[in-house]
Amino acid sequence: IEEQSRDEYFASYEDVEIHRLMVNDVPRTTAYRDAIYKNKHLFKDKIVMDVGAGTGILSLFMASAGAKKVYAVEASGMAQVIQQVARDNGFSDIIQVFHKRVEDIILPEEEKVDVIVSEWMGFYLLHESMLNSIIIARDTFLSDEGTVFPSEARIYAAPCSLKSLYSEQINFWDNVYGFNMNSVKQYALRSKMIKPEVCLVPEDDLLANPTCIKTFNLRWITEEELRLFTETTFIAIARAGNYQGLCLWFECDFDGRDYDEEGKEFGTVVTLSTAPSSPSTHWKQTVVVLGYISEPESAPSHNNDSQEIELTCNEGHPAPHSQDEGHSEACGNTSNINNGSDE
Ligand code: SAH
Repeated sequence: IEEQSRDEYFASYEDVEIHRLMVNDVPRTTAYRDAIYKNKHLFKDKIVMDVGAGTGILSLFMASAGAKKVYAVEASGMAQVIQQVARDNGFSDIIQVFHKRVEDIILPEEEKVDVIVSEWMGFYLLHESMLNSIIIARDTFLSDEGTVFPSEARIYAAPCSLKSLYSEQINFWDNVYGFNMNSVKQYALRSKMIKPEVCLVPEDDLLANPTCIKTFNLRWITEEELRLFTETTFIAIARAGNYQGLCLWFECDFDGRDYDEEGKEFGTVVTLSTAPSSPSTHWKQTVVVLGYISEPESAPSHNNDSQEIELTCNEGHPAPHSQDEGHSEACGNTSNINNGSDE
């Protein structure tokens, strides 16, 4: 079964629409481009690896930044186009494609790489993400002084109201052709509570400033640390509104800073943010819908209950780390987004 779902996972990345969605995600792709072009010292004349190269876009950035060798590792059939893409852009000598899982490749003479770049992030960072593969690649191929891009990832949370989700998908059932469909409304709400929802949350719907609930140092995090972690954080509601959900998102830093002999800093930090306050990305935000039905206007704005929220991140079966639901609804359940392949 494992092998079958892995095959399905990589087959899903043969759909070029997923690659268009990612490459066309401007905040995402420009963050990688800026991180590479504004830190050329990390790439010039260096040996680098692109883990999960897809169409090869990040390999092209690195080759353009002066890398002397780019190993583009891609397990899906997309690997077959990367070599031609490299040739078409004059990088056929620089970019070398491996059509394999990164776990299965062997570099000539056990060569080490200076930088590993990868776009592995899933919904709320970890939802079915390929971070484990990055950790394996790092521990196998990165030189002691090497760099991992992104270098740090952080998960944020804020309590929120869910105005559009409630008005479009829940309160819809209040009045259906003049009939009372409150039971369907309860059912709709319960079904929303089962799995986190991927949707765009307007900044105005946040009921407090963001709290960083977890930081990952990607140069050093181990698979063991990733397997199971619990964070206990007190999040207070600071603004009036219906407390209907917990909004989650992530940020990644690409820290290319270093110091010259005189102690002068060079290089820069680029941040990719998927916050409600940042330009929207294909990751949108993720919402844990809480079981609170707002009664028309007179309802209390929030209660004092503490909530325990459990998110399953690495369920041990692969599935696409970042796909859109492919239609224009404001919100989608995470199960709709992973191609339904694991249902
Ligand atoms: N780097 C590209 C694609 C990112 S999507 C871009 O930025 O646009 C992630 C890619 O990683 C997918 O194409 C997927 O097939 C590939 N991938 C996931 N796990 C992998 C693994 N273990 N080994 C090799 N490729 C992997």
